[in-house]
Order: sequence, then C-alpha cells, then structure tokens
Amino acid sequence: MGVATFDPGAVLAALARYPPLPSGSARIAVVGGFVRDIWLGREPRELDLVVEGDAAAVARTLGGEIVVHEPFGTATASGAGWRVDLAMARRERYPAPGALPQVEPASIEEDLARRDFTVNAIAVTLSDGELLAADGALDDLAAGSLRVLHERSFVDDPTRLLRLARYAERLGFAVEPWTASLADDASLGTLSGGRLGGELRLALTERDPVAVLARLAEKLPLVIEGPVAHAALALAPPESDRAMLLLGLLSLEEAWLADLELTTREHEVALACHRAVAAADAPPSALWRAWRAVPIEAVAVAGARGDAGVARRWIEEIRHVVLEIGGDELIAAGIAEGPQIGRRLERTLAAKLDGTLTGGRAAELAYALAGES
Ligand code: ATP
Repeated sequence: MGVATFDPGAVLAALARYPPLPSGSARIAVVGGFVRDIWLGREPRELDLVVEGDAAAVARTLGGEIVVHEPFGTATASGAGWRVDLAMARRERYPAPGALPQVEPASIEEDLARRDFTVNAIAVTLSDGELLAADGALDDLAAGSLRVLHERSFVDDPTRLLRLARYAERLGFAVEPWTASLADDASLGTLSGGRLGGELRLALTERDPVAVLARLAEKLPLVIEGPVAHAALALAPPESDRAMLLLGLLSLEEAWLADLELTTREHEVALACHRAVAAADAPPSALWRAWRAVPIEAVAVAGARGDAGVARRWIEEIRHVVLEIGGDELIAAGIAEGPQIGRRLERTLAAKLDGTLTGGRAAELAYALAGES
C-alpha cells in the first residue's frame, strides 16, 4: 500500500469495538501502534489516545474501570473485552540521560515529536479524522523503516534500544542507517534496573523473543540458551509467564536479576528457571516431592535441560492429581488436628500417584487412617 492510499477513516472504523469515544472540545487523537497497525493491515495490540488536556477526565467519560497514573497525566479505562490507554499530549525534557523525563502539556503535534520512532509518531483525530504525522513518518511506514525523531533519542531514553529491536523483529522493518549508527553509539548503561526490567519484560513477551535478544547481543551481552529456550517454551503450559522463563535462561548474575525490580512472583519464577536442574525420571511421588512447590516454568526448563518426557508427564498429568478426601474427613474420623493430618494426606497422595492405592474416596480414607504416620 502506498502513502497516498492511506485512509484515516480506516482507523476510525476500527474503533467500532470500543465504547463511543468522545469528540468534544479537547482535541483527542488515536496515536502510535494502533494507527501504524491499521495502516499495515495488522491487528492492533492496544488503543492509545492522546488528549490535548485532561486525559483522566476523558477516561471517565468512557465508563468501565478507570486507573489514573499521576506523574505523566495518563489513565487507563477498561471494560469487558476492551481497554483504552489515554495520555495527556506533552512535551518532554530529559534532566539526565536515562532518567525519567519532566513533562508539560503540549499540542498533539509536539507530542508526536517526543515519540520513539517516526512510524509511531502518527495520529488521527477523533473529531474529523485528520491525519497528523511527524516529518517523513508516512514514507517510513511505507518503506518499512525505523527512524528516530532526533539525534539524542537513544541518549535521552536508552529503553528505545530495546524498543528498536522489538519493532524490527515484530514488524520485519529495517533500521535506517542514521538510526543504526546512533544506536551503535548508545548504551543501556544509564538506565536504572527497574526501567531495564520493564522493557526487558516487554521484549521477552514478543512472538519471537529469542530473535529480539539476538538483536540486542551487543548492548546486552546476555547469552540465551537458544535450544533450551525453544524446548522449554514448547513444554510450558499456556498459563506460564514466558517472559520470566526466558529471563531465567539468560547468562546473568542472580544479583543483576534482583536489580530489575520485578514483582515478587516474577522474580521467583525467573530465579527458579535460572536454577532449574535437568529433569530425570523418577516415580510420580518423588516428582511430586521435588516439584510441588516449584513454578511450572522451572519444570519446563528442567525438562528442556533433561528428560522432557518426565516434565511433560508432570505438567499434563501428575500435577493435577488430587485426593478426593481432605483433612476434615480425617478429623471427623477421630484423628487429632496437627501436622500428622498433612503427613497422612501426603502419604495417601504418594500411594495414589504411584498406583499402589486405587479406588475412590473410601479407599483413600481407609489408607489415610491406617498405620502410623
Ligand atoms: P505498540 O507500538 O504496538 O503499541 P507497544 O505496546 O510497545 O507497541 P507502548 O509501549 O504501549 O507500545 O507505547 C505506545 C506508544 O507510546 C508507542 O507507539 C510510542 O509512540 C510511544 N512510546 C512508548 N514508549 C516510548 C519511549 N520510551 N519513547 C518514546 N515514545 C514511546
């Protein structure tokens, strides 16, 4: 598709699945990835609106649940099956390389100029479908070219180096030569662990995260165990945190991981994956003892490093096995409350897992009540 054929109306038409969006006095525009993806014929991942004025007030008109993030005047409105991110149109000033910017209200045109790449610096106003774009943005989109908006872009905000790798990989776009040379000269060194962690999490959520990491090899000399990564992702069940699984497979120091300001759960998953030892065949009860408290992502890694069949059996079958009885039944049958209840249940589950105990509830109860525990 050439630039001349781009129809901003297609962007507005794609908004039909959202609640009615306001087009009142403040100028509001759809911006960034949504416009870019509609233009490319791709399914947009999310809807971003830029508002000349109070983004939180506009968010409240959408209904649904509203979350306001004060520092940058952004807000999120969400409901069943939809989510809209709104931001106040702003200009930015970076007090120091890698630091968070200081922001002040500005026009949408100025807001486009603070963005990461020209292909994201395109907006369509809600009121009249006017197309607003940074210089060269539409040509770059047509050419599939990633270009920063100014010379200091990567110095001001080195997270854009990771964003560059993500977009190049996801969209299959080329990095134009001036941008490539600026990226070559830039470093991630000024970023805080928290900002790096946030952007790494996004990079590792891409469809082909291993390829994104390969693009970053010079900036982030962390080697990923590629074959293990692919095998572990294949084993990991759908509910897995794939980003944290991959993070754990990087050749990193555990102290570095701790610095990324992950959530407690994310850190636990990444660390368990980092430490996972090769899985070896064992009776189901032994697997249960070894893995019952281990994040499922780490079991997938253990399988990828060792016996994949054992890990798969754990993931698909063994971990789902539960007893039909609980502690209440044992107490009702006269067993005193205390740690022995847990021990009896554990012994019964082990027998059930290994196939030495068959039968339902009655058999389980008899087994749990029998003998010393
Ligand atoms: P997509 O562009 O597909 O929405 P994404 O989920 O990575 O990908 P967000 O992180 O939600 O995008 O960012 C939305 C928009 O905000 C981007 O299109 C970009 O214009 C802008 N943006 C985000 N991060 C930065 C940054 N560090 N510097 C400049 N602009 C940014």
